[in-house]
Amino acid sequence: MPIRLRLALWCGSILAVALLGFSTLTYVLVEHRLRTSDDDQIAGRAHRIAALLQSTAPQSTARIIRIFSSPGVDVVLVDARGRTVDRTPGMGVAFELFQRALVAEAGRFFDQELGGDRYRLYALGRSGPGRVAGIVVGHDEAEIDRVLRTLLGLLVAGCIACLAAVVAAAWVLASRALSPVDQITRTAARIAASGQSTERVRAPTRLDEVGRLAATFNQMLAAIDAGQATQRRFVSDASHELRAPLTTIRGNADLLLIDSNIPPEERRDALEDISTEAARLTRLVDGLLALARSDAGALQPPEPLALHELVASSIERIDRRLAPGPRVSLGRCEPAVVLAVPDRLEQLLIILLENALKYTPADGLIVGTLETARGLAYLRVRDTGIGIAPEDLPHIFERFYRADPARTRGQPGSGLGLAIARTIVEESGGRIAVASEPGRGTSFTIQLPLAARPPHAQGDC
Ligand code: ADP
Repeated sequence: MPIRLRLALWCGSILAVALLGFSTLTYVLVEHRLRTSDDDQIAGRAHRIAALLQSTAPQSTARIIRIFSSPGVDVVLVDARGRTVDRTPGMGVAFELFQRALVAEAGRFFDQELGGDRYRLYALGRSGPGRVAGIVVGHDEAEIDRVLRTLLGLLVAGCIACLAAVVAAAWVLASRALSPVDQITRTAARIAASGQSTERVRAPTRLDEVGRLAATFNQMLAAIDAGQATQRRFVSDASHELRAPLTTIRGNADLLLIDSNIPPEERRDALEDISTEAARLTRLVDGLLALARSDAGALQPPEPLALHELVASSIERIDRRLAPGPRVSLGRCEPAVVLAVPDRLEQLLIILLENALKYTPADGLIVGTLETARGLAYLRVRDTGIGIAPEDLPHIFERFYRADPARTRGQPGSGLGLAIARTIVEESGGRIAVASEPGRGTSFTIQLPLAARPPHAQGDC
């Protein structure tokens, strides 16, 4: 059942219960009030007649009847033997037939059908001077019944009109409030059918629940759209990056196959090219695999790791390398235990140190430091290399982004290193930042939360 119908029915049901209670109460109270005042009226007349009879001569009964009879109210006076002494003129015979029995039950109210009309009767016995031994005052209830019927009709009609108006209003309001939801559903169905997330929902101007839903839905579509665009760019960049080394490998391999008389130096050059490009391909595929694993969340569980030991050993290993290049040294190093996957953090250090080596001249310096403050470990890799141009800085963590080769001295690379570095840092709940000045050097700072209870935090670097 649609929500708008359910809402309308709920409103209608609640109102129906409230109206039923109110109408019943009103009807019962009005009926009780009318009947009580009617009883008071006929009993009062009977008692006033009795009081008058105490002081009036018997022949004045005709006057008493005149005074106390009125349209709808009849009076009968009877003697001790039940015979009529006097009565309201024009009364039906039936009334007289009953009055004898009534006198026997003096002091009570009766409801009696007389000649098709409902009468409320009050009978009062008396002893004292005069013939009159009993007084009966009766009131025709037709008037009260008419008033009550009119009231009932008004209440029923009012309740039905009220209910219909409220149910209709609830339906219209719910339909208006929920129309953006319908639109969201239709848009979502269209996107599901076409796979295109470029469509947007027309968000209502008011920021109520539905407005927020529409706005959030649009944000979600924008995020999906951006994600798809990134994915497309990634696939196209990856294909492009893979094609270049493959073309070189194939060209050189074809050359070696076709020409058997190729001079030994050229053969060697071709084989070297193949080897270099194969290594580049391997790095690229490793990088893509690392990113894909991290995107899929297929990672080992993190464990407490003595970061100071890892930093010290990585720097020492790089410094002991045979290739010529800048000096790599360890600066201030405080003990720090973080929750991370050891292989991944090692990979992070290798990326940062190898980048520093690539972009720092041989007479330059690379320094790694590790400090702790306010529950965080700060790992820095500083170099005195070529630096990064301000226009490149915002992009260097993007996948496949490489700064202008003229600036980067044509160093080999895939543009995936820093993207992987950022993923690794974020996996461990940390942040990576860069500060650089072209021509003076670059500093990468990694901020990682310290493990709550370091198992062997003491120790040195
Ligand atoms: P690459 O494989 O090109 O090194 P990265 O993602 O590791 O890819 O780095 C992206 C770009 O950031 C590099 O092309 C380079 O221009 C710049 N870069 C990274 N580290 C440094 C550094 N230490 N000094 C200067 N430039 C750097």
